[in-house]
Amino acid sequence: IPLPSRKFLHISKSEENKKETSQLTVMQWNILSQAIGYNCDRFETCSEADLQWQSRKWKILYEIVQYLPLDIICLQEVDHFWFLESMLKPVGYEGKFIPKPDSPCYYLEGNTGPDGCAIFYNRSRFTLLSTSSRVIQVYDCPSNQVILICKFKCKFSDKVICVSSTHLKARKGPILSCLRDEQGKDILNQLQSECGSIPTILAGDFNADPSEPVYKTMRAKFSSAYCEALGEEPSFTNWTKREKEEETKQTLDYIFFTREHFKVQSVLDLQEGLRQPIPNSQYPSDHLSLIASFTMC
Ligand code: NDP
Ligand code: CA
Repeated sequence: IPLPSRKFLHISKSEENKKETSQLTVMQWNILSQAIGYNCDRFETCSEADLQWQSRKWKILYEIVQYLPLDIICLQEVDHFWFLESMLKPVGYEGKFIPKPDSPCYYLEGNTGPDGCAIFYNRSRFTLLSTSSRVIQVYDCPSNQVILICKFKCKFSDKVICVSSTHLKARKGPILSCLRDEQGKDILNQLQSECGSIPTILAGDFNADPSEPVYKTMRAKFSSAYCEALGEEPSFTNWTKREKEEETKQTLDYIFFTREHFKVQSVLDLQEGLRQPIPNSQYPSDHLSLIASFTMC
């Protein structure tokens, strides 16, 4: 059964001839690590057959390529980077990957290595100037979370931009919420020292809904693409039903951007058509993909 198609919600029109030089389309997606999804998550809405990598990998790839040409693709929970790289290279994308220091995947049966964050970029559009990564610090101690930062030069306009992909600590509770806030502060310091006043995109699974302190911390420095486009954050980006747990719908994923450098043009709608929690036979992750198109000022 084909998935219901999602529409782009346009909030401003771009001049057609300016598109090539000033438009930037960014995808954000926690793709669900194969080792974690198969061994740990206990999703009730997905059969074991649909959780097999042989089945999921094509659905993950399809979710990405159906929206090409994208300029930037920020992914998390990537434990099959080489597969994605080998599939996306022939269609024009280069990728960078940073593993988590002590990925839970290491401990799981059939793992293919650690999971981590990735950034793919359209090589006809960008030259990669530098890549850096950081184990996110909390009160000067390393956490188990990472951020990947790439600096690009746009081949058409010579503009330099910074793009980063991150995945903050999971799970609920006041201590972990405080930990995520400290992770957010560390990210802001890192981006300030590496990117300064360069136009910056920060995409990720922050594992925090908009009521958490880390959201406020990030918004002090960044605008949020979906919030800008819709007037508020979407009602969910993650919808799951795990065995012996209540069904949960949460907004955890964001595309943040420096407000003085980008204007949101459109975002891919999130809710339309979804009838049941994810992952399921049609959709391969517990997080929906987000896409935002910007005009660079
Ligand atoms: P996190 O708490 O950030 O979570 C790790 C992963 O688990 C995330 O990708 C998260 O996904 C996912 N997750 C969240 N909720 C659930 C759930 N209810 N069921 C299943 N998976 C879920 O962990 P860290 O990476 O900070 O570290 C985990 C630590 O535990 C590491 O040090 C690791 O080595 C250790 N570990 C040890 C194991 C062992 O057997 N010894 C096994 C597993 C981990 P999302 O972000 O999408 O919510
Ligand atoms: Ca997960």
